[in-house]
Amino acid sequence: MAEFGVVAPSVEVAGGKLPTATGKPLSVVALRKTYGDVVAVDEASMEIAAGEFVTFLGASGSGKTTTLMMIAGFCEPDSGTITVGDRDVTRLAPQKRNLGFVFQQYLLFPHMTVSENVAFPLTLRGVPKDEIRRRVGETLEIAGLSGFGGRRPRELSGGQQQRVALCRALVYRPPVILMDEPLGALDKKLRDQLQIEIKAIQQELGLTVIYVTHDQEEALVLSDRIAVMRNGLIEQFDTPRELFERPRTPFVADFLGAANFLPGRVLQSTDEHTVVRLDQSGGLLKARRHALASGTPVKAAVQPGRLRACAPDDGFCTGTVETATYVGTLVRAGVRIDGGDAPLIRLEVPAGRGPVAGERIGLTVDPEDVNLFPVEQGG
Ligand code: ADP
Ligand code: MG
Repeated sequence: MAEFGVVAPSVEVAGGKLPTATGKPLSVVALRKTYGDVVAVDEASMEIAAGEFVTFLGASGSGKTTTLMMIAGFCEPDSGTITVGDRDVTRLAPQKRNLGFVFQQYLLFPHMTVSENVAFPLTLRGVPKDEIRRRVGETLEIAGLSGFGGRRPRELSGGQQQRVALCRALVYRPPVILMDEPLGALDKKLRDQLQIEIKAIQQELGLTVIYVTHDQEEALVLSDRIAVMRNGLIEQFDTPRELFERPRTPFVADFLGAANFLPGRVLQSTDEHTVVRLDQSGGLLKARRHALASGTPVKAAVQPGRLRACAPDDGFCTGTVETATYVGTLVRAGVRIDGGDAPLIRLEVPAGRGPVAGERIGLTVDPEDVNLFPVEQGG
């Protein structure tokens, strides 16, 4: 039960006066946390606007939870600052930061009803009873829980319990709500449904949310912007579209777009395009313009869904379809490119139009969909 002291939202606001849903932005500057030799978070900086849904996305151990816990106040940074609205909260206790939390474990009070659980943050703040009743009713309705107010948590499904936890974080309208893998314990179907609900509630109420997940799809469904984290570093902080279309590192191209990487050298650039001679096939691949000198060794990143099959010798390379797997609306193909033993190029095309195993095909791509990354030399 000790956690409840931590999870229960704060008691800061005097006289029951509630802050509004749209607070000022949250900013984090050069936040750093080490555990012995492990740099859990390395100089993380970001500005989050009011009403924004921001997700920390990364593999396990990349520093997502540590960053969130520093913002929440449960973990003290080695250095850096955290500002909520106009207030520097870096050294404030969690309960003085006035942030809402939802964790993977629901952490509801088992002996209290749903209504009492949701009312808890308001009761703590001494909000008048009528006002509590009104706000709890309103919040339960938003989460589709009207009629469940009298039940105890154990009389609810996992998804319903997580909705109650969400209500408890929403009910006093904290300026920022922090969520650490809140849907991690639920099965896929329920997760998909709750993602849509969380997004709808966030938009309806204009909430500012910082969300943690390791699931790319979940991040894409929910987020206005995503911070892709890796080894304690924010690799890129951008809109889903930018992360897909303009990944700034090969890691981001791979992590979000599952890109194919084709090694080659820059042949020349025009005003519009940069042309790369591919190492393996010797073929010429046209990319959108990059500021790279002729001769620069590069990796060209192309997402499987952006490649198209064409007649052999009509594309930037030619090869043989080695695998073609029907996966519902798509066919996923693996193509062995002529002239070497590089990994199969992965291609995704709408089912019905897909190439078949054994077929000889060429590959083409819109230059806009090709991102080039210079390769460090001597390594
Ligand atoms: P994520 O949430 O992305 O999985 P974490 O923020 O939990 O990652 O962890 C980041 C790194 O910091 C990991 O290498 C982890 O082992 C380490 N770490 C986190 N918390 C502690 C701790 N309390 N003591 C020691 N190492 C920790
Ligand atoms: Mg974590």
